[in-house]
Amino acid sequence: MEEDYVFKIVVIGDSAVGKTQLLGRFTRDEFFLDSKSTIGIEFQTRTVDIARRRVKAQIWDTAGQERYRAVTSAYYRGALGAMLVYDVTRRHTFEHAARWVDELRAHADKSIVVMLIGNKADLAAAGRAVPADEAAAFAEEQGLFFSEASALSGENVERAFLRLLEEIHANV
Ligand code: GDP
Ligand code: MG
Repeated sequence: MEEDYVFKIVVIGDSAVGKTQLLGRFTRDEFFLDSKSTIGIEFQTRTVDIARRRVKAQIWDTAGQERYRAVTSAYYRGALGAMLVYDVTRRHTFEHAARWVDELRAHADKSIVVMLIGNKADLAAAGRAVPADEAAAFAEEQGLFFSEASALSGENVERAFLRLLEEIHANV
């Protein structure tokens, strides 16, 4: 079945925050799964219904470049949405979110819709290093949507991706 829209989404954030696992959790869940590998860049797709349209989410994953801040403008080109991920148990990954926002402002389209994700919520009870309120306040100040989630348990992953897709759809 043909889709009505293809929405490119980039997943960004520090190394080991769970970007690849979040992407796997969302795209493996149901319906379609493709994956494609090019020169160091990878994306997966999943097609979902948003407001009675078939929307193919083409979600791009960094392949280790985040360590060296070597994510290129090609990665951001044409992206309508971004998942900016930090790890709720490692404070510096949240503190770096501001730098990732700067990267987006420098390289991505001005109208890009951004969702800040505090991943590894399953570990928050024992090892939280970032209060949810603080992250929510940062998100509001920067004009980002925000959710905590867990790629491990699946909590809020579907909801966060669908929310991002709905917000993009509302803009097209
Ligand atoms: P990336 O470098 O941002 O792509 O991070 P990965 O997806 O490779 O995950 C880094 C590490 O964190 C791996 O050991 C994962 O198993 C672990 N991880 C990812 N998501 C979660 C999560 O939601 N909860 C927990 N407890 N561990 C996670
Ligand atoms: Mg990864």
